[in-house]
Amino acid sequence: MAAAAAVASMARTGAKSSKTWAAGLAGLARACGAGRRPDRRDRLDMVILAVLASGRGERTANRWLDALSRRFVDWNEVRVARTRDLTCAVSDVPAENLVKLQTFLQGMYEQVGGLDVTALVSMKPSEARSWLGRIEGLEREAVEAVLLIALGAPTLPAGEGLARVSRRLGLVPRKASRAEAHKLAAKGLAEDDYRAFYSLASEQAAGPCREDKPDCPRCRARTLCKSKGKW
Ligand code: SF4
Repeated sequence: MAAAAAVASMARTGAKSSKTWAAGLAGLARACGAGRRPDRRDRLDMVILAVLASGRGERTANRWLDALSRRFVDWNEVRVARTRDLTCAVSDVPAENLVKLQTFLQGMYEQVGGLDVTALVSMKPSEARSWLGRIEGLEREAVEAVLLIALGAPTLPAGEGLARVSRRLGLVPRKASRAEAHKLAAKGLAEDDYRAFYSLASEQAAGPCREDKPDCPRCRARTLCKSKGKW
């Protein structure tokens, strides 16, 4: 079934109203606490924060960014650092996130001859998407996270974590694919809520609500959950 037809079908049978999505977001925020803090970082830091927040949430990304900033002089030093030194600075950061960060820094370095986001942050979303898309190894979810978090564009990254949490909280049908869940979330949420929902859902998915053997007994969103770890 084509994605559009599948979503149309869900709209008839299982799609949730914007009120339900707003209530889902409010419930997640109550259960997990505020997922982000006010933006007081410079532009480069915000772009890097967004790359780190992709699939992990902003609270975790802020913590990692602070730890890296304490340990390294600047982002150029992070760009060329050994993995061992990076993991010493932030012990709980998965290797794949470090690879993603260094890939992004190296890609930017090669594109503009340094670590400078002045041009990027002044681009239209379509131009920025194309610019970021040229960085080899930076996956689509991270590109959209930069647009959403650092550039303030009304886009919702289509991560598997967001889809999984949306299914388990009953916001989309349990059999919805990632693409279908993403379309329903983008439609059901207010654009102003994209960032908060993406961040909280990503944090929840990277924490207790993992794919296999979710940690339901310790999950603070348990009262909202429709699956209780059964699917
Ligand atoms: S109770 Fe379990 S399945 Fe439900 S949201 Fe929490 S961790 Fe996920």
